Amino acid sequence: MKQVYFYDEGDGKNKKLLGGKGAGLCEMTQLKLPVPPGFTITTQVCNEYYQNGKKLPKTLMAEVKKNITKIEKRTGKKWNSKENPLLVSVRSGAAISMPGMMDTILNLGLNDETVEGLAKKSNNPRFAWDSYRRFVQLFGKVVFGVDDKKFDVVLENAKLNQAVQADSALNEKSLKSVVTEYKKICEKHTGMPFPSDPFEQLELAIKAVFGSWMGERAIVYRERNNITKDIADGTAVNVVSMAFGNMGNDSATGVVFTRNPGDGTRHLFGEYLVNAQGEDVVAGVRTGKPVDEMKIEMPASYKQLEQTCERLERHYKEPQDIEFTIERGIFYLLQTRNAKMNAVGMVKTSVDMVNEKLIDKNRALTRLHAEQLEQLLHKTIDSKSIKNYTLLVKGIAASPGAASGIAVLDVKRATAMGENGAKVILVREETKPEDVPAFFESVGILTSRGGKTSHAAVVARGMGKPCIVGCSDLRIDYDNKQFSVDDKIVHEGDAITIDGSTGSVYLGEIPTTEPKITDDFKTILEWAQKVKQLGIRANADTPEGARLAREFGGQGIGLCRTERMFNGSDRIGLFVDMIMAENIEERKKVLTKLGELQKSDFIEILKAMEGYAVTIRLLDPPLHEFLPNPEELNQKIHKLEQKNEIAELEKAKILLKRAKELAEINPMMGHRGVRVGITYPEIYEMQIRAVFEAAAELAKNKVDAHPQIMIPQISSIAELNHIKKIYDNIKKEMESKYNMKLKINFGTMIEVVRAALTANELASTAEFFSFGTNDLTQGTFSFSREDVEGKFLPEYMDKEILERNPFQSIDVNGVGSLMKIGISAGRNIKPDMEIGICGEHGGDPNSIKFCHNANLSYVSASPHRIPIAIIAAAQAAI
Ligand code: ADP
Ligand code: MG
Ligand code: MG
Repeated sequence: MKQVYFYDEGDGKNKKLLGGKGAGLCEMTQLKLPVPPGFTITTQVCNEYYQNGKKLPKTLMAEVKKNITKIEKRTGKKWNSKENPLLVSVRSGAAISMPGMMDTILNLGLNDETVEGLAKKSNNPRFAWDSYRRFVQLFGKVVFGVDDKKFDVVLENAKLNQAVQADSALNEKSLKSVVTEYKKICEKHTGMPFPSDPFEQLELAIKAVFGSWMGERAIVYRERNNITKDIADGTAVNVVSMAFGNMGNDSATGVVFTRNPGDGTRHLFGEYLVNAQGEDVVAGVRTGKPVDEMKIEMPASYKQLEQTCERLERHYKEPQDIEFTIERGIFYLLQTRNAKMNAVGMVKTSVDMVNEKLIDKNRALTRLHAEQLEQLLHKTIDSKSIKNYTLLVKGIAASPGAASGIAVLDVKRATAMGENGAKVILVREETKPEDVPAFFESVGILTSRGGKTSHAAVVARGMGKPCIVGCSDLRIDYDNKQFSVDDKIVHEGDAITIDGSTGSVYLGEIPTTEPKITDDFKTILEWAQKVKQLGIRANADTPEGARLAREFGGQGIGLCRTERMFNGSDRIGLFVDMIMAENIEERKKVLTKLGELQKSDFIEILKAMEGYAVTIRLLDPPLHEFLPNPEELNQKIHKLEQKNEIAELEKAKILLKRAKELAEINPMMGHRGVRVGITYPEIYEMQIRAVFEAAAELAKNKVDAHPQIMIPQISSIAELNHIKKIYDNIKKEMESKYNMKLKINFGTMIEVVRAALTANELASTAEFFSFGTNDLTQGTFSFSREDVEGKFLPEYMDKEILERNPFQSIDVNGVGSLMKIGISAGRNIKPDMEIGICGEHGGDPNSIKFCHNANLSYVSASPHRIPIAIIAAAQAAI
């Protein structure tokens, strides 16, 4: 098997074998773009390395040497030469890009002799020694695992000694002593001389890059991002001849997005540094200059950059994120990959690229990550409230969206506090890849250093978390757990608000407002509406929810939970009275009042959804959920006894008695849903009547309302028929009362396993089905949906007993099979039967795909998920 591919041989499509970086470099080389000569060692070799107990395959180094010879021929430079030495970088690169998660070594091939050659050949000894110190540092860190801080101390001291501030101002003499110190650090660490033979260096570097695949950061990153073996299995190693951005003021290095990844506008976006090497920009050690300035500073190179970007976009049909280096005016490309953008950027570029005829509408839809679009529905700072808060400082807006929370200056503390549910804003001078766990647990990130392409910015954007970087006026004092701007001090634990769209940091917690859908997003949603086949409805139980859902493109309500309407402050008391009623007359009296309230609620919701179906589910939860819990009542009774308030005490005691009567060991499988409807028929009667009354009133007012009534927790046809009789009687009564025909569909939820299994029976009475996948999942697994998350589920996922949380994404094999049984049984009896799903799964893209394939009529999701559901449904249909 071929272990090594020179860049003009490798297949640019084969990211699995060559890694994303290697494949990109092959493709660009073959497009005749200016890539420094180099080669890729495949991901298969990485796997062999691990299978062999961390040993390189025997033939590998011979292959590598052959390819080094090829580079020598292309470049005219010589390996280990004292005249014109060939130096290379050794870079990781897996099938999926994992920014900053694995290791890279630059300037490999330097030793005390070749450095002199480099100095002579370049006529720039300072540059040669700068490259050498960079090499020893990276090699020490990556290969030997030396702590970076040790090198930093030496460098800082050198700057102090020479009385300069920038790394780039260090002179040859200082750099020489830095190299000596650096080598000593390494030698102390390993107890061995620093390797001077370039091939020995190369072999060690290759092993180290393979090793970084199983480094802790990389493992955590893969876990968090669900990068499984079938997606990326091992890293490739790229050996690339060096292009030197640190050769002087006509040299530079930079990172550029072909379009702005924050808002998608077509404009080169990125940073560059003159007289520097790539690591400086990527690690955020020095804050780069906006690439726009290059237009003036290095016009010829800028032009080349612009043309290259356009060519890459035309070729890849995706905005790219590239790395480039300019060596004495000559432009080199070192990496390209599809740009990671936030949702605004993705949506805008989808629309723009269709307009530019770069892609078609289907591609515009499929390239979106449905889940990521949630960002578009993110909050912003309430503009009216801003003036009441102090603007602390401004930094670089790196990832949009607003967040408020408590400032935390330590990665471990931030992780722990976030895990405990605190809203944390991580405040650091800069962040490193090993800080990523804290990102997951924070609501926002603020750093005092770095630019828009620094580590913190890239990672935060990928996660859709608000982030501000390069806030240089911020003085961070880790020891005293505080930071300050001039005389304003913020202590760890104080509330702050960051606006990642403007770069502003405020003191205190500012209220945030809901987002609006942009024109581009509307366009995308329109395209999606046209191709999707599934209906998208909302789970909504208020008129506002219904309106929001409609604005977001929802077509109907798939689940209106009537019990939510009883929780309003003006009615919870009435509902308790109803439960506490001593006899049926009393209960009916209260129910009449509740009926009036429900009717007016229904009218408002039906109006908001005029023209679309609104599925009203009758009362589902067990009655005791509406009573105070016995423990609280006991405490209250205790207090009342002490105060000797007899009347109140009596009331509380009666309430406690009733609460105890209604209590159940296992309420989720208890006296709820249709079981309440059968044992307290007056409740369902009231609700059914309220729906009919609302429908009749709206019909009189020429409002095109389509209510339908849905019964929860049905497990048998006998239950359903029992309620159907009540429904029929009320229907007759109402039609004669209003002297009109009233068409209100009567259907059932399928959320009990037995219902799915006997769906053929249910279909004779039910006019529609709606899968309640929350309860159905609970019943299928016998997992209590209220408890799993905090108990065994996380461990199940860790140990890969479960691949996904079945309450988030439909368990296709189990729950999905039950659904298929239900669907085919239902449609067998009624071929055009409307069958939908109203569990939380209705907003989950994977589940939506399943629903599309299972031929469901619609999915119902919470209003905020509707745009996501529309896109996911379109993607399923393409
Ligand atoms: P990462 O995946 O962390 O970006 P890379 O392997 O891409 O790591 O390299 C890190 C930095 O070094 C990048 O800025 C890259 O452009 C630069 N670099 C890598 N190889 C070379 C090379 N041969 N010549 C010049 N710069 C290089
Ligand atoms: Mg890179
Ligand atoms: Mg249910």
